Amino acid sequence: MNVNRIIEVYQGETLNALREFIFAWWQHNNITAVLAPVELSNPAGVQLAVIEDPQQLMSVNPFAPVMINNTAGEALQILDNHSFEKLALILRPCELRTFIELGNIGRLPTGLENTLLVGVDCPGVLYPDEFRRQVDILGVETLTRSVLHDLSEGHLQSTSMRKACQICRWSSPSRADVVIGVMGVDVENVILIIARDEIIDAREHLERVTFKLASEYQLSHRETILGALAEKREEVRNKMNANFQDQCPFNDLGCLLSFFANCTLCGECLKACPIFEFRKTASLHKASLVEDLVLISRWLASCTGCGMCEQECEQGVPLSLVVNSLNHRICQELQYTPGEINQEVPWIK
Ligand code: SF4
Ligand code: SF4
Ligand code: SF4
Repeated sequence: MNVNRIIEVYQGETLNALREFIFAWWQHNNITAVLAPVELSNPAGVQLAVIEDPQQLMSVNPFAPVMINNTAGEALQILDNHSFEKLALILRPCELRTFIELGNIGRLPTGLENTLLVGVDCPGVLYPDEFRRQVDILGVETLTRSVLHDLSEGHLQSTSMRKACQICRWSSPSRADVVIGVMGVDVENVILIIARDEIIDAREHLERVTFKLASEYQLSHRETILGALAEKREEVRNKMNANFQDQCPFNDLGCLLSFFANCTLCGECLKACPIFEFRKTASLHKASLVEDLVLISRWLASCTGCGMCEQECEQGVPLSLVVNSLNHRICQELQYTPGEINQEVPWIK
């Protein structure tokens, strides 16, 4: 059963409270590195960093509304090349699901017992250009503060967010060891820290680094807000899937391909996708249309909807729409949900 705790926020400084919490947690738990988004000052922005000096935690910002890469893909590369005594990954819900899915499809290295999965609530992110525009006006800290303030007020859905975020199925992380909860939470005063179970709560010494247990009201309010957001997004997603199906029935390949009319085959969408790798593993000399179709269907079945493919496309190909619709259809047929822990992929049953 979850153990729900809170940390206190002083003078509305939510990010500072979070940073101090992670710092204290580091010290109590012999963490050796944290992979997380950090703020940059010149030019102002955010990038992913492996933090090995706890002082650097003071620039961590997992709530800046931008996603530069899918952290799960970065984590995979890091774990392939380094070993840490205890690495904490701070992940948005889609990134966490991607990390788990990479495990399901056999791409994670073994021996990850000391990798701690920390999930953060995510109201969605902006396209990088829009993020930069808003950062130029407000700065990263103020922009983040305004996002957190909106969360507190229950204003969660915005049409300026990426399409993938407007239809995202998972605004709160599932299967994280520890969740940093801000949605539907009075973030100017508290942040929720939720351990997956009593064992993790005790192992991570969360009692020592938090203030007290969360109240029933705090938890149920968060659930209500999350439920309302999930409903809104489901509505947008269903409408989008229905429009797509009307415009482009699945038996009309020509129509589907017309979405790619502007594609220049630059490959940036594929590079941005941590799940896509079949060109690296498939032996090209015996690649056939059937082999490609099978591998594409497996890739799409494992898609976790992170939106990085569409974000990287400079030609405006509506990949979130296409990928989400195909993923939905394939997963329905296969009765598969990408990103669920210990799930057997259908093609090795
Ligand atoms: S796809 Fe979902 S989890 Fe990922 S950034 Fe968007 S809202 Fe957040
Ligand atoms: S990023 Fe866009 S233009 Fe480039 S290959 Fe992908 S869909 Fe085509
Ligand atoms: S196909 Fe696109 S949305 Fe799906 S996991 Fe890859 S990058 Fe993310």
